[in-house]
Amino acid sequence: MLNRQLYIIDGIKNMTEATAINPVLEIKEKVFASTFYFPDIYSITLCYLRLYEYYLSREKMLELITKAIKNPRRAAEKTWNILRRTQHQGQCSICGIETIMYKYGKSLTETNKCKKCGAIARNRHLAIVLCKVFGVEKPFSMKKFVENSKDLAVYEAQGKGPLNFHLKKLQGYACSEYDPDVQPGSNIQEGIRCEDLQNLTFEDETFDLVITQTVFEHILEPDKAWKEIARVLKPSGYHIFSIPFQNSPITERRVKIDDGEEIFIMTKVYHNDGVRNSLVYTDYGLDLLDHLKDFGFSTELHSLGDMDSNTYRIDGGYIFISLKDRH
Ligand SMILES: [Zn+2]
Repeated sequence: MLNRQLYIIDGIKNMTEATAINPVLEIKEKVFASTFYFPDIYSITLCYLRLYEYYLSREKMLELITKAIKNPRRAAEKTWNILRRTQHQGQCSICGIETIMYKYGKSLTETNKCKKCGAIARNRHLAIVLCKVFGVEKPFSMKKFVENSKDLAVYEAQGKGPLNFHLKKLQGYACSEYDPDVQPGSNIQEGIRCEDLQNLTFEDETFDLVITQTVFEHILEPDKAWKEIARVLKPSGYHIFSIPFQNSPITERRVKIDDGEEIFIMTKVYHNDGVRNSLVYTDYGLDLLDHLKDFGFSTELHSLGDMDSNTYRIDGGYIFISLKDRH
């Protein structure tokens, strides 16, 4: 108990120091670096940062932090109380029940976080698509998906998250993160392999389904990765994925590679996933659907109609469904 409190206080102190000198993104880096493995501080700091970005002034945030150092528990309760004002009911397609969802910020896909499983709209949209593609009946849930798909061989290119929590119960499930210091194909930690999507270590035609979430924009040579995914999928296997997508007609590369060197032709943009900043190499457009034919995929976009959008609290965004040709 004492340790937990110390962690909380430490995390908030770190944040205070960071706040005094740095803009928001750097605060995030510092706080997340020190707190990611400790859920208590993680949730308190996350609340503060979200409030700071969208609802509070910097002064108000500093005042709250100062109070939080004296009484972390009360601070946490108070913060959640403010956040609760920005919640609504919705059907979670991962939990399979109606539950509370918290609204955060301005993004349509990274919001409406399920109180029970922590899934944001994008994760839950992907779960709906998985259920529809693999014949799971309503009400959709990942528990039902797993029961319905016991023999499915699935590879997910991330080692944590609300989908991973359910999918790892499948016998034929593999997941990975990328760590440049670990030999690809071996484990980073139990149950999580190290894999580079541009050069996978799996045998040909291993999987029925490959899932990637907001990762392709960060891959330096995405064509290598599409090719690899096509290689490890069985004929008629699916690659189901999300990428940031703004209905632009054409794909634009932010970088070109000259003699092995990355030359940026547009301003550098980073995404922060709560752990690290990742550089964006590509802004995808609708021409991706055609481009993926080169790798043997027929691809369609899935979006929700108004009614479902309201039921599931998924207010926008697309999930891509790529079907690998039979041969
Ligand atoms: Zn949920």
